[in-house]
Amino acid sequence: MAKRALVTGISGQDGAYLSRLLIQQGYEVFGMVRRSSHSGIAEHRLRWLGILDKVKLLDGDLLDLSSIMRLISEVQPDEVYNLAAQSFVTSSWQQPVLTANVTAVGVTNILEAIRLNRPQARFYQASSSEMYGRIQEPVQSESTPFYPRSPYAVAKLYGHWITVNYRESFGLHASSGILFNHESPLRGLEFVTRKVTDGVARIKLGLNKDLRLGNIEAKRDWGHAADYVRAMWLMLQQDHADDYVIATGTTTSVREMCKIAFGHVGIDMDEHLVIDPTFYRPAEVEILLGNPAKAKQVLGWAPQIDLQTMIVEMVEADLDRLQHPTVVSRS
Ligand code: NDP
Ligand code: GDP
Repeated sequence: MAKRALVTGISGQDGAYLSRLLIQQGYEVFGMVRRSSHSGIAEHRLRWLGILDKVKLLDGDLLDLSSIMRLISEVQPDEVYNLAAQSFVTSSWQQPVLTANVTAVGVTNILEAIRLNRPQARFYQASSSEMYGRIQEPVQSESTPFYPRSPYAVAKLYGHWITVNYRESFGLHASSGILFNHESPLRGLEFVTRKVTDGVARIKLGLNKDLRLGNIEAKRDWGHAADYVRAMWLMLQQDHADDYVIATGTTTSVREMCKIAFGHVGIDMDEHLVIDPTFYRPAEVEILLGNPAKAKQVLGWAPQIDLQTMIVEMVEADLDRLQHPTVVSRS
């Protein structure tokens, strides 16, 4: 019988790529979606990957324990991937309580639903490199102390530790992936890589003149979402649950990432890039750099797509989308 996976956050970037992987692996995929008055819009990423008709979408909200209990009872999943979150750092200063309720307490809701209704299910929690914040070691690994710098990162830290706690308290097969930034053509437009690739595509097509950014000296360890969802799946195939850093081991500044995007379309970055303090953050994470040695050794995981290749893919996808706005499926 096919394995059954329940994915929260299925309408997000990682939810779409993970669902495609699980379908390829022969899983029956169920996704939790929030009710919206804009019917159909939430599913655009699944449509873009050509898998919307291959997943079953069920109503639920991470804030609503009863809806999660019902979903776990109905689906009886073998694996649960908790990808849902208020995931944008900047918004977490504007909506700190919502961020705490969804990104932190929401994890307890889903762990409780599993503990009470389906304790044999394997659980994945989407932890984040933002938990390292003001870094305590130049290269961050599973043993590096955390120092979160935003309400989002504080909430993720709670989600991380409650996952560890349910593993240790109740013996759940609960794993936490400490994923460094990962991007794709399906990344939200508010995140810096996609803002840049969309902005560069607009400038190339004459739709915009400027690209306005904040702190372009910040550095991130950027990978591709398609690589990173493979690591999530591998974690749940292990006999023992554990925590893993997922990263490329290379860090690049926003400035250098921009250069790749502008360079690809042959436009001089200095003529179009505007530094706008509106995009500075109340507290910044200046640099992140992960050490994925444990994931490599235990999971046999390694990233396959480098930053240059990914940014070029994203610019090309944005050029295509802007020129053919009705075309959604690329697969
Ligand atoms: P996205 O922002 O693209 O997706 C977030 C998902 O969460 C969406 O499907 C959204 O639904 C859903 N969601 C938000 N609030 C709720 C709620 N109350 N109930 C149910 N669903 C909700 O994030 P990504 O795909 O990029 O990231 C996936 C996970 O990994 C997130 O938890 C993120 O914090 C974490 N992470 C991401 C990293 C990255 O670089 N991408 C790095 C490290 C961790 P809707 O469509 O309705 O808004
Ligand atoms: P984060 O690491 O989860 O916060 O991912 P983001 O893509 O949102 O931001 C990555 C880095 O880019 C942060 O250090 C931001 O301060 C920096 N950055 C600079 N300009 C911008 C901008 O205009 N938008 C965003 N989102 N980030 C920016």
